[in-house]
Amino acid sequence: MSEKDCIFCRIGKKEIPSKTIYEDSAHIAFLDIKPYTKGHTLLIPKKHYAQFLELPKKEVSGLFALAQELGKKLKAALDAQLIFLSVMGEEIPHTHIHLIPYYGEMPFVARSEPLSGDLDRILKVIKEYKEKK
Ligand SMILES: [Zn+2]
Repeated sequence: MSEKDCIFCRIGKKEIPSKTIYEDSAHIAFLDIKPYTKGHTLLIPKKHYAQFLELPKKEVSGLFALAQELGKKLKAALDAQLIFLSVMGEEIPHTHIHLIPYYGEMPFVARSEPLSGDLDRILKVIKEYKEKK
């Protein structure tokens, strides 16, 4: 798959809309349209690296620091017990980190259908969440 056809590159360039929960110049995080659990988020570098192992060393720490920051926000906003983090990536060859809120039930099963209404509601909860000081 070329970068031109890569769905995650196209999301990063806004050619395909996504339920974005975070964005900066180098990263974007958005809700998975087939979530394992409520708030299942994908964090990607905007630049195309097919595999995690191809990521330049200097970009690894920034990506994981951001994953932790977003994980904390998801956990608090959605009242999850834990946030699971995984780098799998065989389905879309563009490095991505899964942030999967855990609410006490296993196993995870991917939904077969996108839940658009639910995604909008969850996105609103996350975006409107303000850290309690
Ligand atoms: Zn890509």
